[in-house]
Amino acid sequence: MIQKPKGTYDVYGEMGRKLRYVEQVFSALMDRYDYEYVATPLFEQSNLFHRSVGDSSDIVRKETYDFKDRGDRMMTLRPEGTAGVVRSYIENKMYGDIDLPKKLWYFGSMFRYERPQAGRYREFRQLGVEVLGSPDPMMDAEIISIPVNLFRLLGLEGVKVRINSLGDQESRNAYREALKDYFRPHLGELCHDCNERFETNPLRILDCKVDGNTELMKNAPKMEDYLNEESKKHFEKVKEYLDALNIVYEVNPNLVRGLDYYTHTVFEVEASVEGFGSQNVLCGGGRYDLLVETLDGPHTPAVGFALGIERLLTALDYEELQVGEEKELDIYVIPLSDEDKGYAIGLSQALRLSGFSVDVDSLNRSMKSNFKQADRKHSRFVMIIGESERENNLLTIKDNHTKQEYKVTIDEIIDFLDEHMDSCDCDDCHDREGE
Ligand code: ATP
Ligand code: MG
Repeated sequence: MIQKPKGTYDVYGEMGRKLRYVEQVFSALMDRYDYEYVATPLFEQSNLFHRSVGDSSDIVRKETYDFKDRGDRMMTLRPEGTAGVVRSYIENKMYGDIDLPKKLWYFGSMFRYERPQAGRYREFRQLGVEVLGSPDPMMDAEIISIPVNLFRLLGLEGVKVRINSLGDQESRNAYREALKDYFRPHLGELCHDCNERFETNPLRILDCKVDGNTELMKNAPKMEDYLNEESKKHFEKVKEYLDALNIVYEVNPNLVRGLDYYTHTVFEVEASVEGFGSQNVLCGGGRYDLLVETLDGPHTPAVGFALGIERLLTALDYEELQVGEEKELDIYVIPLSDEDKGYAIGLSQALRLSGFSVDVDSLNRSMKSNFKQADRKHSRFVMIIGESERENNLLTIKDNHTKQEYKVTIDEIIDFLDEHMDSCDCDDCHDREGE
């Protein structure tokens, strides 16, 4: 038997329902924030990720799926969403639109060659947003508010927001030198990766999973002492706007995030599920004012975030939150014999095009097991199609809630269903209305 690749999973049944529900809630929220949907290719030229995510990042150094296509081009399965969206922004000259800033959202698979474990897959899904073309700290706060409000709508409580500022290029360079001076005498105490980071991107030493919690790390120089006036002002404004949004946050001076392209604000949103550990980090993002230029576009300040959907779904499961409504069917159709099937599917098609959900028995079940099946599917009505129904165009319909049976002509069927669908007196429906 052929098995799925390591670190991947199949979406079906309950998982499919949950995934679609989260996407629907997010997409509706994005409409309310006035963001536009964007989808970019699942693979891009490898260069794109080298130049954006950065050669010193864990992602590009160890985690990408690279392959040569049949035309000998180096390709990479996208490990994150921002690079592709920015490439698309530049290539499609979105910066020339009247409607700026560009506020975009996406939802889809990302690929990273990681050691599979709880909350860490090789194909995983992210939802995310990118706002291109606004330097305003108000936008940083808006971006942070989106995952916070998504969690609120999904009923996930106790989430924590952590923020920090990496400042502009000048501040970052000054901090970089200070970190190098600080770590230089201690290189022997740092892991192999950190020794490399010392040369390529010393800020990333603070993000190390191995050395992360040592005294050396805790006593390292703090970014805030190296922010220039403008960067300080930007950060103060972000905090002010978060207060205006009633969003509680904590400033964490060691938060640098894994990607090389961040400037000014960086943030993470964490769930508080016990025993979840680092899996609690559901979402990360920040401002990346220099990335568009790095990829040969015009100067375009930008800010965004990405959220791990598997971790979100697991957090929702732990909190035992009901995701979405139980699936219900409007009409279950039972053809009594093969001769009745053509009529049954013709009628079903007309009903579906009129907005009703319909399923037709295709296993020639007995009447008893068909009624059981209709119950399992929580079908509101059951429709039986036999010779006399066909010949007289008179349909037999049973209301599965009230158990009442009706005879309805084919011309009146839509009106009948419209009328009866929402008006049920049975105990179940009363209970549900009362909830
Ligand atoms: P981590 O520190 O957990 O490796 P990261 O910094 O690599 O995370 P980002 O690149 O910022 O994460 O991605 C944003 C979110 O995507 C993470 O907060 C997480 O929820 C999710 N995520 C990242 N990698 C994986 C993975 N391999 N499997 C499942 N979800 C992931
Ligand atoms: Mg990672």
